[in-house]
Amino acid sequence: MSLHDEKKRTEIKNALKKRVVTLPDGTSLPSIGQGTWYMGESPKVKDKEIKALQQGIELGMRLIDTAEMYGNGDSERLVGEAIKGRRDDVFLVSKVYPHHAGLDMIAKACENSLKRLGTDHLDLYLLHWRGRVPLAETIEGMEKLRKDGKIVRWGVSNFDTDDMKELWNTANGKNSVTNQVLYHLGSRGIDFDLLPWQREHNMPIMAYSPLAQGGSLRRQLLSDPTIREIAEKYNVQPLQIALAWTIRSNHVIAIPKAVQEEHVLANAEAATIELTQEDLNRLDEVFPKPNRKVPLDII
Ligand code: NAP
Repeated sequence: MSLHDEKKRTEIKNALKKRVVTLPDGTSLPSIGQGTWYMGESPKVKDKEIKALQQGIELGMRLIDTAEMYGNGDSERLVGEAIKGRRDDVFLVSKVYPHHAGLDMIAKACENSLKRLGTDHLDLYLLHWRGRVPLAETIEGMEKLRKDGKIVRWGVSNFDTDDMKELWNTANGKNSVTNQVLYHLGSRGIDFDLLPWQREHNMPIMAYSPLAQGGSLRRQLLSDPTIREIAEKYNVQPLQIALAWTIRSNHVIAIPKAVQEEHVLANAEAATIELTQEDLNRLDEVFPKPNRKVPLDII
């Protein structure tokens, strides 16, 4: 497949328009977006990274996930360059460090992110992970940013089920629209309790590292005979099957990160793969859903 294959591009764009996840406020988002961890850190590949994000947006992966942590702000700066002149085409997500998530720091941290991104608002602001600041204080800060128009909505990241329950029982905690957590075929802990809990509470999951970045699991996903057989059936690559699996419901948005052009295309193309129940059963046999509580996987 190439970028110049118009028919394929149209098929991908249509699939990303069709396969959406709806936030509690009714906003629909394509079920595949784009991650940016490690982007913006090397001037040598900057142009390539910008182009990758722009190609992804053009194909319909218009959600872009970044964080003040990534490259100490360099990832946000790169995203700012990539979305210049096309801000309205993008659903922009950034994250605040836990140690900036108190009332004394959060407004400044957000303002700094906005400056680096070259925008006046974020579509979604996430607490990157839980730190020492009481949840009630972070929520108050998020709600103030929302009222001031600096962010449209907020959510959390790396929260396990007990954290979510606590959030839910804290004033205005129910205004959180998502929880971004590690989720892929080789790491299914959340299938036991967190994902069902969030579904019950109408709060979609945002799946990070959906391609199992690094480590032995990636090799396992690439070499597993069942994944390979299913990939052959659809004439795609094994990691595209892993991505299609992550977005198999309408409750999970995957945010793969890709710089190589062929990776951007492959990830967007995964939205066109509709796995059958038989495929899913076969994958369940090799990568079973846990039958007991497993602590949340975190990178
Ligand atoms: P990932 O998306 O699972 O994997 C990224 C790696 O896979 C890169 O090396 C990329 O290479 C490669 N790749 C991309 N598409 C591919 C394809 N179709 N075939 C083969 N290889 C492919 O890992 P991630 O970056 O850890 O996670 C995605 C995003 O989630 C991050 O970028 C970040 O935005 C977010 N995240 C959030 C948290 C959190 O705590 N909230 C933690 C981790 C990540 P190239 O870049 O060279 O194309």
